[in-house]
Amino acid sequence: MSEHSEHKEGFIPRYVLKQMAERGNKEAEKTLIQMIKIEEKVEKEKKNTQVTNLLHSGNVAERLIYDSENTDEFKRKLIRKEGDPPVHDEVVNITYDFCGKTLDYFKNKLQRNSINNLGMDVIANVHYFNGELNNAFYFSELGQLAFGDGDGTSFKNFARSIDVVAHEMAHGITHFVNDLHYARESGALNEHFSDVIGTAVKQFVKNQTAETADWLIGDEIVGPGWRGKALRSMKAPGTAYDEDKQVAHFDDFDPTLPLEDDNGGVHYYSGIPNKAFFLTATKIGTDKAAFLWYTAWPNIHSNATFKDALGAILKSAETLVHRGELPQETVSVVKNAFEEVGVSAPVPALT
Ligand SMILES: [Zn+2]
Repeated sequence: MSEHSEHKEGFIPRYVLKQMAERGNKEAEKTLIQMIKIEEKVEKEKKNTQVTNLLHSGNVAERLIYDSENTDEFKRKLIRKEGDPPVHDEVVNITYDFCGKTLDYFKNKLQRNSINNLGMDVIANVHYFNGELNNAFYFSELGQLAFGDGDGTSFKNFARSIDVVAHEMAHGITHFVNDLHYARESGALNEHFSDVIGTAVKQFVKNQTAETADWLIGDEIVGPGWRGKALRSMKAPGTAYDEDKQVAHFDDFDPTLPLEDDNGGVHYYSGIPNKAFFLTATKIGTDKAAFLWYTAWPNIHSNATFKDALGAILKSAETLVHRGELPQETVSVVKNAFEEVGVSAPVPALT
């Protein structure tokens, strides 16, 4: 398995589309085929993209929203750039706003200057591929986002949800911070960090707290034909829809799962740290928990296990508590949260 099936996973994982296709959903089948074409397109595009273009850092990130006009082309037609007034296309405006809210969160809550922390522009392509593409992507090779319109039955337009936009932009942060290897535990951590940022930005935008939030991921893009309420639940992994394969405890982690199956379960097992994050946030607040995770992020190596990640988070917790930036009980809160999902602190244990 291959490198090439890594990183090209969209917001809707292949295994979900396969579950749908097995039930006879033609649109899901179509999206699976389209994703192969998209991979080829990105491979080609990558060769034309200069690394310097990729960073396009001007200190202050600018938003550039393009219309792919239902083609596979990137940066096809610039519709709205930073500072422009709203345009006729509502999808463009929503994307512009949600990218802006996510940048605001990065800046104000995490002290991060855009995706690469150097003011990289946020380039988003809407109406990507044909009019019914059931997915959204961050292409780290291109430094660009792409949003499909959805088929309208299973999924709505993917740009219409703040957690989708923030989740995909967070994949960009991972790319620059530690490039978590997209398989098994490290891959599940990669997905986990995107869900952490996705939910934190969503709660920020909706003025929610850990107590009032629904902790669902993708609830705003599922359509009337979706058999459930969302793609994932961070509060109760495995309960978001009728075939939800997420687990919430390390006892259910299967290290022998073949990589062909969701890269070794990156979306199944992200439920484990997701639940630990939820438990932490209910004790110290979502923003503080997100800031803690963000601080630990660069100290988690690209092949990290859940235990490694916990070790880094505990270390950051000690530092931030010492500096008075997090409440005293944070270290024990995090430890307990991970213990509840079956992950214990590495030895030598922090006492
Ligand atoms: Zn993802």
